Amino acid sequence: MARLLIIGCGGVAQVAISKCCQNSDVFEEIMIASRTVSKCEAMKEKLQDKTKTVIKTAQIDADDVEALTKLIKDYAPDAVLNVALPYQDLTIMDACLAAGVDYIDTANYEPEDTDDPEWRAIYEKRCKELGFSAYFDYSWQWAYEDKFKNAGLTALLGTGFDPGVTSVFAAYAKKHYFDEIHTIDILDCNGGDHGYPFATNFNPEINLREVSAPGSYMENGKWIEIPAMSIKREYDFDGVGMKDMYLLHHEEIEALGRNMPEVKRIRFFMTFGQSYLTHMNCLENVGMLSTTPINFNGQEIVPIQFLKALLPDPASLGPRTVGKTNIGCIFTGIKDGKERSIYIYNVCDHQECYKEVGSQAISYTTGVPAMIGAMMVVTGQWKNPGVFTTDEFDPDPYMEALNKWGLPWQVVENPVLVD
Ligand code: NDP
Repeated sequence: MARLLIIGCGGVAQVAISKCCQNSDVFEEIMIASRTVSKCEAMKEKLQDKTKTVIKTAQIDADDVEALTKLIKDYAPDAVLNVALPYQDLTIMDACLAAGVDYIDTANYEPEDTDDPEWRAIYEKRCKELGFSAYFDYSWQWAYEDKFKNAGLTALLGTGFDPGVTSVFAAYAKKHYFDEIHTIDILDCNGGDHGYPFATNFNPEINLREVSAPGSYMENGKWIEIPAMSIKREYDFDGVGMKDMYLLHHEEIEALGRNMPEVKRIRFFMTFGQSYLTHMNCLENVGMLSTTPINFNGQEIVPIQFLKALLPDPASLGPRTVGKTNIGCIFTGIKDGKERSIYIYNVCDHQECYKEVGSQAISYTTGVPAMIGAMMVVTGQWKNPGVFTTDEFDPDPYMEALNKWGLPWQVVENPVLVD
């Protein structure tokens, strides 16, 4: 029925590709296009005898809009799924516009070079005006609204788990459980153990930038920023147990804050063990998380990229990771004049994911919603000209697809609250 061009062939992409190949009724054909074509060919080799989906591959540098536009025009897909890096979001959106094709991604734009003076001037203005200092924000992609609308094309942003499923949970809670939502706490718990002293579960550069940055949350429509890791809570997670979690800035707070202005407070917490934090602090203190190039023995290197080369590849953690993830949202508010609180969450087992698709649960919980988001767009269930996040469409078909495609969820009334 549909043809999907998938850009990137890393940890998340490999799950999205495997799930598209399980869903051949929708994805009759896919093309895997990435910087290192041998990874795309290896995925094709692994899957082609087990699926009805026809798989093609291509080499592409997604920073090159002209080459990418040509590839999209030649392959003529129904949509492009960007599971490369957030650095490529804008160039891929430009190429989709030039080729007249819908666009889907899992993470919002951030620049690779945070020292670029042109970007920095806009960033510093935003920090002052909005009050949060994360390198990533939606403004860059929301600025494409008119272009996509005028072209009659859909851009679906951030269809991973968080952001992605968490915002669908918010839309579902609003539709079925509340007249008014007052607070949203998004809780991301990874109870997995990969046995390494230190490794990140998805791209180390993106991951470490995110967790070493100041935290922030939204209260009464305003951002409140706090020093990194300075708000800590304990929570007893179903399937995992008691964990320390820390308040972080996260992108769905921005989208939910804009699209559900009636919500009084939106926060995001992620669990970390003490060993992870000690390693991260040490790496930060010695400058290894820096994105500013340095000269070493006559060669320019970016410290965080060098660190990435030393750390285990997240795609290789699958066989060694045991334990479960639990990601979801606690909502409080009013229904029929009475106070109500619910918790919607998914529990995912690292080893079950590995048995099914050869990946750990972090890649799985992102790659499955990436496939589902692409399915929503190519089947026309979520199609509207413009730029959207996942809380802006009917949540019901997406929620049904989560149950069908490996991320079943549950709703608990009167959960233990964070505070
Ligand atoms: P990886 O680093 O494992 O994979 C990235 C892939 O993109 C690699 O195959 C890489 O190629 C390719 N790539 C990078 N630059 C280019 C380029 N210029 N042109 C073409 N291909 C390129 O990352 P992950 O799979 O861990 O993450 C993928 C995305 O998922 C990221 O945007 C991340 O932020 C997002 N994510 C979202 C989550 C959510 O819940 N919403 C959670 C986790 C991740 P090569 O193989 O040559 O390096």
